Amino acid sequence: MTPPKSLRCPGCGNPSSIISHGKRYAVYPFGILALLGLLLSSLHQASSPVDYECRACGRKFSARSALAKFCLAIIALLVLWIVLGLLRVLLVRE
Ligand SMILES: [Zn+2]
Repeated sequence: MTPPKSLRCPGCGNPSSIISHGKRYAVYPFGILALLGLLLSSLHQASSPVDYECRACGRKFSARSALAKFCLAIIALLVLWIVLGLLRVLLVRE
């Protein structure tokens, strides 16, 4: 996985010495996959940050791509929707 060209090391600002260590949550435990469902877990996996390391100063950091930020926003909306649905069930009793 090649780091995006716009990525810079937060330590030294060097854009050319970044190496990628891949997705942080590469392997998903089956239990969580079964609980959250395939859609939500794949969304979460797509939204997880990529770990990088700068070869110039050795600093390790992580960054999210635009797609990962988009997936994170979708998850936030889903969670909000679920919470609002639960609140409606709890608060509105007929
Ligand atoms: Zn650096």
